[in-house]
Amino acid sequence: MTSSEIKALTGQYIMNTYGRFPVAIDHGQGATLYDPEGNAYIDFTSGIGVCDLGYGYQPWVDAIAAQAKKLGHVSNLFYTEPSAKLAEILCQRTGESCVFFANGGGEANEGMIKLARKYSFDKYGKGRSTIITLNNSFHGRTITTLMATGQEVFHNYFFPFTEGFRYADANDLASLEAAAGDDVCAVMMELVQGEGGVLPLDKEYVQAVKKLCEERDWLLLIDEVQTGVGRTGSLFAFQQYGVLPDVVSFAKGIAGGLPMSGIMANEKCRNVLGPGTHATTFGANPVCAAAGLVVQETLSDAFLEEVQAKGEYLRERIEALDLPCFGKTRGLGLMIGIEVKEGFNKSEIAGKLIDSGLLVLTAGPGMRLLPPLVITREEMDQGLAIMKKTLG
Ligand SMILES: *Cc1c(COP(=O)(O)O)cnc(C)c1O
Repeated sequence: MTSSEIKALTGQYIMNTYGRFPVAIDHGQGATLYDPEGNAYIDFTSGIGVCDLGYGYQPWVDAIAAQAKKLGHVSNLFYTEPSAKLAEILCQRTGESCVFFANGGGEANEGMIKLARKYSFDKYGKGRSTIITLNNSFHGRTITTLMATGQEVFHNYFFPFTEGFRYADANDLASLEAAAGDDVCAVMMELVQGEGGVLPLDKEYVQAVKKLCEERDWLLLIDEVQTGVGRTGSLFAFQQYGVLPDVVSFAKGIAGGLPMSGIMANEKCRNVLGPGTHATTFGANPVCAAAGLVVQETLSDAFLEEVQAKGEYLRERIEALDLPCFGKTRGLGLMIGIEVKEGFNKSEIAGKLIDSGLLVLTAGPGMRLLPPLVITREEMDQGLAIMKKTLG
């Protein structure tokens, strides 16, 4: 099919819930994508932080094919090897104790919220179920995670929402104290607010929140759906912040492009969700887990150092371009935000770059870059050249 045929068919038969760019993607290799007509696009998006190994990565393709041939799905009523191995690696590399596998980020966060509320219910009974989240956060699109999201625009249309969330300002301990109370069971946050605009939290703040959580027996819930799995230059961002969350969620990059997510809990929370309290049909799917194992094998410590170096390179070069529309950059690893100067429109900039062969994202008030973690210097330089030509 041609691009225009695909667009027409989509318009006719798929619900119009996405503001799509006018591009159809057919295939990819490395960090380069191609439309059906063969036009190339340098990818600074990874399918929104998902395709950490880029496209057509041979070990990933082979592992999926081999596992699909052996066993595609069997349900969590039976044991399978790939998910057990993946859980072992995740725990060994992070210091967490156990994993529950799900399918998407919002669903993982639902599990994290359920765990926090049950932890408190088991210990203190009813009435201690409020979770403090941060303004400008993003935690998902389910009825509950919309409410966990600290942005008014998401609290619309779908009433009634789930009760039990209060909001505090990021990097502001006094604001967190103001939201505290006897009804609180947990604090939930992203360490780099992603959809909110690539805003990293301060290390001192996060460590102070961890201390407060310990004093009051609140659980510290970290949403690493976007920051996790190497994106920030460490396997999880919390490892750079020097805290071990009670529960942490992951999704996007975990299986390099197949739908998979989950939560990891520390020893204290190991037995909170017992048999019958939480489940999902597709969770721990063996094909997704086999793909996740390839991601873990690829993301060695040396590879993660390279992610840091690539992120620094890209930020430095973008600032050196000194484009009229861009200000400072910020972020961690290959999770990069670019300030858009007043008088310029982020969506217009994204549209122009995409027209010129460079895929980029927007977030909050500026641009957001999430290139595949395997992106080469050559591909980054091609992307930078497109930026310069298009916006210079
Ligand atoms: C993307 C994202 C989610 C939602 O994940 P889905 O897979 O779309 O449900 C939740 N939290 C954060 C931080 C995210 O970036």
